[in-house]
Amino acid sequence: MILTRCAVCATELGLTLGKKCGRCSTRYCGPECQVQHWKEGGHDTLCKKIKKAGGAEQYNANKKYAEAVSVAVEKCAEDTKGQTCYICTQALHWKTKEGLVRGCSCRGTAGFAHVSCLAEQAKILFAEAEENNLGAEVLNARLERWYRCSLCEQTYHGVVKCALGWACWKTYVGRPEADQIRGLAMNQLGNGLHEAERHEEALSVREADLARMRRLGDSEENMLVVQSNLASTSVALGRHQDSMRMSQNVYSGRFKLLGEEHPQTLLAANNYADSLLYLQRFEESKSLMCKTMPVARRVLGDNHEVTLRVKLTYALALYNDTGATLDDLREAVTTLEETARTARRVLGATHPITVKIEHALPDARAALRAREEASSLREAMAAMAPPRKSKY
Ligand SMILES: [Zn+2]
Ligand SMILES: [Zn+2]
Ligand SMILES: [Zn+2]
Ligand SMILES: [Zn+2]
Repeated sequence: MILTRCAVCATELGLTLGKKCGRCSTRYCGPECQVQHWKEGGHDTLCKKIKKAGGAEQYNANKKYAEAVSVAVEKCAEDTKGQTCYICTQALHWKTKEGLVRGCSCRGTAGFAHVSCLAEQAKILFAEAEENNLGAEVLNARLERWYRCSLCEQTYHGVVKCALGWACWKTYVGRPEADQIRGLAMNQLGNGLHEAERHEEALSVREADLARMRRLGDSEENMLVVQSNLASTSVALGRHQDSMRMSQNVYSGRFKLLGEEHPQTLLAANNYADSLLYLQRFEESKSLMCKTMPVARRVLGDNHEVTLRVKLTYALALYNDTGATLDDLREAVTTLEETARTARRVLGATHPITVKIEHALPDARAALRAREEASSLREAMAAMAPPRKSKY
């Protein structure tokens, strides 16, 4: 359940408080708000429509999906001009008339599609695996189509990921609460909202998700995933102390459950180090990344997204520290230059990590330049200093 507030006064109802419209399940804090909604909020006409759509959660998901698609199409408009969908081969979707998007690492004329076509494809592939009992591995691989491009194999980002998150949620919201795919859909929605920088919404989806998992007694590992996501949403909302505590917890949990070399542990190490940066705890961040970097390079390779993230965090810890030495600053610049080249090649110029690295590079260079100037000034001053008085 992600609708946790009264539809009229927005009072938080959690999962059980308040009352629901008997027909459409719209939630209210009490009879007063319900009556007001009927009389003044247009519920008398909306109720039937909501019920027909499958109830309040489904109706909300459908509506938010449509909004998210139009945001994504508009944001991608310039990039997609004159292109066609690689799935249905049309520029405009035959049924919805929506335009195209592209939010992965595809380049040139590849990878343009309608959100509806991407969603339909993911839905069909997953349903087929489910109906034919193709096993957990196949199910997981098919599930990836909700968040990973089948052409470039990179994850979607930004508003495209958000639209697909809503698509995924609207597809599976009608299933029973304990259904695994419904839980995963909730997670996708939270990730998508985060990507589109809709952090308040992401927070409430993630909190609802964690509450659901606790209630159902989900596994430690699954709960760590949600906690990790909650930590990154907390960063975005400026709650750095919360985020650091959660990130630390996730890192030690994964270390114990999965071991040092697991990609999820490496990613958790990076996130923990990143959360330390916000609290200006550069030394701790740097030493954790120093330890993690060789493992990531060995296990995942230099081109892997997680390795790139680790290198970026390491460089940030190096040059943001006011106690950084000249050598630290040089190392930060070299690391960023190298990482920027790899990220551009592997992930593409518009990928958020590439953007973040290229954003950090001028800052690191400026810090280095300032330090070099300061030290050459010191040398010059030393050279200009009056010679010691001669004895004679
Ligand atoms: Zn109310
Ligand atoms: Zn109703
Ligand atoms: Zn299409
Ligand atoms: Zn792609």
